[in-house]
Amino acid sequence: MILGVVEHAGGEPTESSLAMLALARDLAAQTDSLLDAAVVGPEGAATADTLGDHGVETVHHVTDERLDAYAPEARAESLRQLVEERSPEAVVAPGTNRGHEVLAHAGAKLDLPVATNCIDVDADDGYELQRLRWGGSLLEHARLEADVALLSAAEHEFSPEATGDGDEAVVSEFSPSLDESDFRVRVDRIEESETEGVPLGEARVVVGGGRGVGSAEDFEQLEELADLLDGVVGSSRAAVNEGWRPHDDQIGQTGTKIAPELYVACGISGAVQHMVGCKGAETILAINTDPEAAIMEKGDYAVVGDLHEVVPELNEALRDRV
Ligand code: FAD
Repeated sequence: MILGVVEHAGGEPTESSLAMLALARDLAAQTDSLLDAAVVGPEGAATADTLGDHGVETVHHVTDERLDAYAPEARAESLRQLVEERSPEAVVAPGTNRGHEVLAHAGAKLDLPVATNCIDVDADDGYELQRLRWGGSLLEHARLEADVALLSAAEHEFSPEATGDGDEAVVSEFSPSLDESDFRVRVDRIEESETEGVPLGEARVVVGGGRGVGSAEDFEQLEELADLLDGVVGSSRAAVNEGWRPHDDQIGQTGTKIAPELYVACGISGAVQHMVGCKGAETILAINTDPEAAIMEKGDYAVVGDLHEVVPELNEALRDRV
């Protein structure tokens, strides 16, 4: 059996979990095994309908009321017990911060290696992997030898689409034996960020601004462009460091990974740490005064020009159209 670790919000699996199931399904097909899922939390059983459409046979609903709040070690301990009881061939988690944190703890508890950010796995003879390193700027070919393969699926690399109208997955309750020490680290309260509208990582259109924008006030023209395109504004780390934008807006290795249909990058040079955050974009339009800037080559379209002239002209042209 291949076990997918599914994250969910109120019984709705997250997009990165559904995308992870594409890799888990592929592994199940390669190894001729069933695909099961592990879910935690009081509404976990409600995922069964959706997960059935993604090829999951059985949802192992991990029940312990203390697991309602995120507690990485407790989740990992539950996973360890589930792995020991059900003996999956591989465990696949989404390549999110939480997915990686839980998998790392589980690996330590099970004394097993963990391979993160996989984009392709060949399970023909052991596990031959391709995985993203350094935020995606390096592709690694690796071989994993372990009794149980602990893997995470790189984000934005797999489709979250359902396979069809599978039957609702069967729910099997699993009560781990946990003690207080497993809850030393747990989420105590959540403060929502004040950002309104579509989150940067899910936006269909992103207008990014870098040091070339020049000031916090000059981001207004980018805000207008984003509004006209029904998108949101993001930024490079340089613009965040200047104090022009909040860290929530940062795109890149140490910021948010975006995957919009269109990314308009204004006054951004295209440093590798920025590009790994926007390589999921379908189309990149770069606006830069320097024709030699790295982003001009990496983008699909480039406008050589001053963004303070180009963006207002774009806004004017779009205003006439909407
Ligand atoms: P610059 O490199 O200074 O580029 C500004 C660009 O604007 C230039 O190309 C210039 O030609 C152009 N320009 C200037 N004036 C105009 C104008 N009027 N009109 C049009 N174009 C103009 N960076 C990130 O973005 N995200 C990250 O997550 C991130 N993580 C990092 C992690 C580490 C460990 C490290 C070491 C660095 C990280 N960085 C990250 C920083 C990264 O290396 C770059 O320094 C940063 O991306 C540069 O931002 P920038 O392109 O806005 O600025």
